[in-house]
Amino acid sequence: MAMQNCAQSFSRFPMRVRAGPSGIQMFDRATGLNVLFDEISVPPALWATSPRYVSIALTNACDLACSYCYAPKDAAALDVERVVGWLDELDRNGCLGVGFGGGEPTLHPGLAEICRYATKNTGLAVTLTTHGHRFDDALRAALTGSIHFVRVSMDGVGPTYEALRGRSFTVLRRRLETIRSLARFGINYVVNARTFPDLTAGVQFAAEMGAAEFLLLPEQPTRNSCGIDSQTTRALRQWVSLYSGMVPLSVSEVGADGLPTCDPLERETGLRAYAFIGASGTLKRSSFDVDGIPVGERGLMRALDVLRISCREGQK
Ligand code: SF4
Repeated sequence: MAMQNCAQSFSRFPMRVRAGPSGIQMFDRATGLNVLFDEISVPPALWATSPRYVSIALTNACDLACSYCYAPKDAAALDVERVVGWLDELDRNGCLGVGFGGGEPTLHPGLAEICRYATKNTGLAVTLTTHGHRFDDALRAALTGSIHFVRVSMDGVGPTYEALRGRSFTVLRRRLETIRSLARFGINYVVNARTFPDLTAGVQFAAEMGAAEFLLLPEQPTRNSCGIDSQTTRALRQWVSLYSGMVPLSVSEVGADGLPTCDPLERETGLRAYAFIGASGTLKRSSFDVDGIPVGERGLMRALDVLRISCREGQK
């Protein structure tokens, strides 16, 4: 029933159409349905100029302290007005969706306003990545009708989760019940030696809660951790090869090495596929990149052009 309500409130915008090197893609943000007409060859002059998907870290603030966190620990946060301007640019230039994260995006005071703007004034799909613990009835009410998909971070179950996240797993279950009444949701699961033993229980829990997706995030090295080790990487590959659960698996591009993946848009890579904007307003190819381009007065698409040129020059 919640999905029907969402689909009705989003129905003002029909399926979005995006042209690119792989053909014509149609996307329905209410259901997540994608259709690709790859038999159609589109001239480069008509390709969408925006990345297909852009992540925006609204704030670096977070009330948890996970040891493998890669978010910068400064107090940066983005202005609502600035973000809204970028949403308009992305909408005009063929982007399909934006993901708001952080830090913890629910700590940003303008979150509901930004999501409402994106849903009502653009055709962009809106995704939120969150630890989930701030989802009470008030937050759900503020975001109702303004979010299409929620990604909830859950590394391990029970005692493992509680040791790593410092929060109650029982409370997380209650928060997921609130979240699933708001929008479709998936689980983001950082895989490392500590969390791998809980992987089967984690995906079973996700199925029980009604998750639409289980995203594997092999841990990446940060200044505080050395990332997933080779033994756990091998064990993860074997686990994936034997997986037969009901919840679809996906894997982060940066950690996909050696795992079976399917990418129907394999000609749409790099900045055609994805970009990240940090809470200090720096545009990067991914959140793991150290360097980027500040998004200035001339706007996001101009910054994208500059970043593309600097990436090409870096490859020379
Ligand atoms: S919840 Fe996310 S942003 Fe917060 S400390 Fe953990 S990994 Fe970092």
